[in-house]
Amino acid sequence: MERDKRPMSQQAIIIGGGIIGLSSAWTLLQHGWRVTVLDAAPEAREASWAAAGMLAPHHEADEATALWRLGIDSLQRWPLFIEQLGQEHIAVDLHINGGLMPLLDDNDATAIERKRTFLTSHNIPVRWLERHELITAEPAIAATCHGALLLPGGQVNPRLMCTLLQNALTAHGGILRYHTPVASITERRVQLANGEILAADEIILASGAWTPQLAALAGIDLPGEPVKGQMLRLRAPDGLLNRFIHCHHAYLVPRRGLGLVVGATMVMAGFDRSDDPAAIERLAAGARRLVPALADAPVVEQWTGLRPRLNSGLPIISRLRPGLIVATGHFRNGILLAPITAAAVHSIAVQQLPPCDLAPFACPQLSSS
Ligand SMILES: Cc1cc2nc3c(=O)[nH]c(=O)nc-3n(C[C@H](O)[C@H](O)[C@H](O)COP(=O)(O)OP(=O)(O)OC[C@H]3O[C@@H](n4cnc5c(N)ncnc54)[C@H](O)[C@@H]3O)c2cc1C
Repeated sequence: MERDKRPMSQQAIIIGGGIIGLSSAWTLLQHGWRVTVLDAAPEAREASWAAAGMLAPHHEADEATALWRLGIDSLQRWPLFIEQLGQEHIAVDLHINGGLMPLLDDNDATAIERKRTFLTSHNIPVRWLERHELITAEPAIAATCHGALLLPGGQVNPRLMCTLLQNALTAHGGILRYHTPVASITERRVQLANGEILAADEIILASGAWTPQLAALAGIDLPGEPVKGQMLRLRAPDGLLNRFIHCHHAYLVPRRGLGLVVGATMVMAGFDRSDDPAAIERLAAGARRLVPALADAPVVEQWTGLRPRLNSGLPIISRLRPGLIVATGHFRNGILLAPITAAAVHSIAVQQLPPCDLAPFACPQLSSS
């Protein structure tokens, strides 16, 4: 009998079925890998499910950092990323139509001027909208708003995005195992909490805020702490806002058919997820000040998520040792950074040129050794 001469495809186990794990699994699958995603939760319900979905590399950047460049690169990849999943942008509520930074008070004026100077000096197209132009673009915005800076960016519904990735993975032969906590990692093997042992050519550690604990089990020190974020959703008609608005009171992101998502708090309290009703009130009040038509809009949903933050403040996308890659610490930008992270993980797995400079995102203890 003639032997099958086709090369055996490589097997990857991805620990963590949030957007980073799912996107990495999808990209590996597209390149012929066999993938198994393991997740402790019943489904993708952690940070990726909690996120607002802004794709906003510029709103929180005032310096030309490596993270800022990574965000710009990833933003450009979003449309193709969805198309490669065989979907229209609208399926995940993807809109790359910019985000606004409104001018409400003197603090905003200084921040806006600094942002404009920084971005124009790097040839990033920004546009100042005078009050009359802003009203044309966003009629619902408060009369107290003197104008706004329109920055490149966009938004996506992260919950739809996770579902899309899950469906694409299973439709193309990937294995998704939720309710499946990983208890330990050894050389090219993971042990599940039920004692089962699975082997792979590559293990991808993408377990969000829990990655430091799992890395420690593999003997690797990745210090970090989750940053809790509380958010809410207000009932509102589609089209009340056309794009996201980000200011120091709150940010508002329109979600098609679902109203407006408003966020978010930033609290370092370990894995505590307790609700703070006063914080929800404050966020809702900030949103209503910015969009007065929301005065009577009810809060229809509120939730909490744990942002994965490493002590360096930067993500790590890096090989930790043969057979073990980590992609974590995406903190406030994991949705934005999913496409570039997935491409980077694949390049590390196959030892090809990375899609961008990954040196700033290497594991410090490994790069200094
Ligand atoms: C309130 C809030 C708003 C945000 N808004 C934005 C935004 O607008 N734009 C943006 O770009 N980013 C935003 N973020 C950040 C973004 O959500 C995160 O950076 C991103 O979701 C991280 O994805 P992840 O896959 O690494 O982590 P997660 O989505 O948390 O996934 C990690 C997964 O690992 C699993 N896991 C943990 N331990 C184990 C184990 N032992 N075994 C198996 N599985 C395990 C968990 O169950 C979880 O599903 C926001 C975050 C929050 C909380």
